[in-house]
Amino acid sequence: MTNQTCAGNTPCTFALEAIAANSVNYYERLADRDGLPYFNVFWTDPAEAAHDWPDFGDVTARQLQGAIMLRHMTGCEAATEKVWYRKLLSYIDPSDGLLYRPETGFSRREADWGDNALTLYALITAYIDKGDPKLRETILKMTEGLLMRVRAGSLPEAWGRGFIIKPLMTCVRVLQCDTALELAKMLIHKVFAEDWTFTPDNTFRQGGHMHSNLRTLVGAADYALYTSDPVLYSRVDALYRYARSEATAFGFIPEVVGRKGDVVACETCALMDYAGLGITLANSGHPEYWGDMERLVRNHLVESQVGDIAWLRSGNSREDTEQFTWRDIGPRLKGAYAGWSSPNHILACKETLHWGGPELRGKARAIQNCCGGSGVHALFIIWKNAASFENDCLSVHMHIDKKLPQAEIRCFQPWQGLLRIHLNKPCSVRARIPDFIPSTEARASVNSVDTAGQVWGNYLDFGHGDAGDILEMRYPLPVTTEEISVGNPGYRWYHYRVTWKGDTVLKMEPVSNDYATGYSEFEKADVPVYYGRDGPSPLYQRGHMLLDAEPKLTSLHLDDTPLNFWRLQG
Ligand SMILES: [Zn+2]
Repeated sequence: MTNQTCAGNTPCTFALEAIAANSVNYYERLADRDGLPYFNVFWTDPAEAAHDWPDFGDVTARQLQGAIMLRHMTGCEAATEKVWYRKLLSYIDPSDGLLYRPETGFSRREADWGDNALTLYALITAYIDKGDPKLRETILKMTEGLLMRVRAGSLPEAWGRGFIIKPLMTCVRVLQCDTALELAKMLIHKVFAEDWTFTPDNTFRQGGHMHSNLRTLVGAADYALYTSDPVLYSRVDALYRYARSEATAFGFIPEVVGRKGDVVACETCALMDYAGLGITLANSGHPEYWGDMERLVRNHLVESQVGDIAWLRSGNSREDTEQFTWRDIGPRLKGAYAGWSSPNHILACKETLHWGGPELRGKARAIQNCCGGSGVHALFIIWKNAASFENDCLSVHMHIDKKLPQAEIRCFQPWQGLLRIHLNKPCSVRARIPDFIPSTEARASVNSVDTAGQVWGNYLDFGHGDAGDILEMRYPLPVTTEEISVGNPGYRWYHYRVTWKGDTVLKMEPVSNDYATGYSEFEKADVPVYYGRDGPSPLYQRGHMLLDAEPKLTSLHLDDTPLNFWRLQG
């Protein structure tokens, strides 16, 4: 996938709203006639999508939240957004306020903690969007139902216990909900004082699930800021740095820490929470993490969006059944997000599904659609926080295009080392200096006249600007290479030569990784793996970006949305 160019590889500026808009196709088309999304996409012949137990709460909630964020970010409303909203509410039992999966051939009636955590987060997002008082009551009732469950001794399983803290804290901040705060406090205590999710020296225990652990930390950072708990905040920061040590600089982060086999893969859901955590910390005391977030979004996050679908054979001769669809799966998947990417392919391996009835079990998995809502959510987190305006000061944190009421920000990486700000109102202005240059190499100008600018930490302070001013930061854009490896301790490691131009990866060259198979502990057997030259949808096809160019300005959507769960007041 090459998301930093317009059609035909025409150079254009890096605008996240244009990338997110690619997902409208997938949101509208990879659902059944009733609008219900499919969790599974199988690499069968022809490819097929199948309903499964996560569809009712988990997948629908993530996609509803993603669709709301997509609309706020692009102005485009997916036709399925309202359907998902109605569906989600229809599964809520008014007697206890919780969401129940219905009894079907592939799911049994139950109120799952994960489903309810994701539903609560989607509904509070919808509440900020709509302000519907009835929805407020639904949300409050759900928090009461959840607290009653915990008081009755029914806790989520330890690995997923912290998953609901962020949705609860969002209810606390938006609705001043004491019930949510009480439950968040209980769960924080369980996770950090009683469970084994995080070690006392701030690592994930062996086998840690990256998405669950990072989502827990996104919630814990929120809780620590809200309750002014410096010890907890310090632990969250240390755990971010641990997760970062497991990731590559371009944002590949393993789905599971320390798998006992030769498979290592990156889940888009984990990228979402890596972004949520990094941005929360960067906004509150750790601006040194902005560079991590910019490299994540420019590289592995946008590469995780499904573009090339030639590797899946699509048919259209079979009629849909209640559980399956076989029609045009490839074209319907365009704009979805990787469930298990390798550093250089949209899919790392061919593992099969290990649950469900005979109609599901044993089929090769291509995509898991929990990641479909998460991909847009991740883009939204970074888009929303790329620049901010507060106390008459414009701060440009990441070199990503952005349109605020106060300024239009254009960034020309990887085509040129140039950041340009058009001011619409008088204010002071500062912009982050990219990590890859010494601060002395950033040159500032105002209306084409060089100015000294003042370096303060990792920002260049332009001082005061007037409405109509054009402020620029110019800097060299070095091309460098690094050797990296991904893998699991005691098992095979895969090596790559990575070519960077500034913060953008141009090439991801596998170095002697041409293994046809590798050991999967889930399968207890060798499975096909894609870490070498051959495999589905090669990533980082960006060699043409080596040349400098004058990029076309991508059209932008004005950011006037109040949705921001990652810039928090204490
Ligand atoms: Zn996922």
